[in-house]
Amino acid sequence: MADLRYRIAKLPDRPGASPKWSRPYRKLPNALAVMRAKLVLAGKPYSVNRRGSRPGSVPTLAKAIARVRRAAQKQSNAGEAYIIRGSAGVGYMLRIIEVTPKVPAPSSATPPIQEVYSYVFAKYPDAQNWGICNCRPIAGTTVWSNHAWCNALDIGGPTKLLDQIARDLNNNRKLPISELLWRVANHYDHIHVTGSPKKSGRPPCAK
Ligand SMILES: [Zn+2]
Repeated sequence: MADLRYRIAKLPDRPGASPKWSRPYRKLPNALAVMRAKLVLAGKPYSVNRRGSRPGSVPTLAKAIARVRRAAQKQSNAGEAYIIRGSAGVGYMLRIIEVTPKVPAPSSATPPIQEVYSYVFAKYPDAQNWGICNCRPIAGTTVWSNHAWCNALDIGGPTKLLDQIARDLNNNRKLPISELLWRVANHYDHIHVTGSPKKSGRPPCAK
């Protein structure tokens, strides 16, 4: 079984800024209780969505939380994220991560990502898996993310550790990496690695 945790964060006001994540909660209901307390004054009706999909309107906060709970139990993969926004504009996000990921990599990942995953998590056991497969466009664009082909890996952890891993991956010419994003817009809290070759067009997961 994957060693999953749940973190929440306020949606950043500035585009490109990284959220300030809560500590990782072991249990989904505990994370949701904190999220609920933060959103009590955010204003009815609420909008709910899984990251990358369109928001739906929900009349009460209790219903919004229940919807996220069901979705997060059903889609319980590292990297899944769910967003609740109040009508006053304040929003919070719940994100599923995996701590001390087991090597080898999940078979759903592309071969290059399996190779990068095995390298990273065997060498850095304190790094976290923030997700591989995710059928969604790149945030704020209509271009499909390589996560939609399971050809990308998000690596989380303490900033110092991520600095070390990013340096290591940048210097390692043998790993099949086509792109590494770290300390750029939207990537101050995790490293994004795209496998080589990079995929483009429309992914099979897009209906
Ligand atoms: Zn990514």
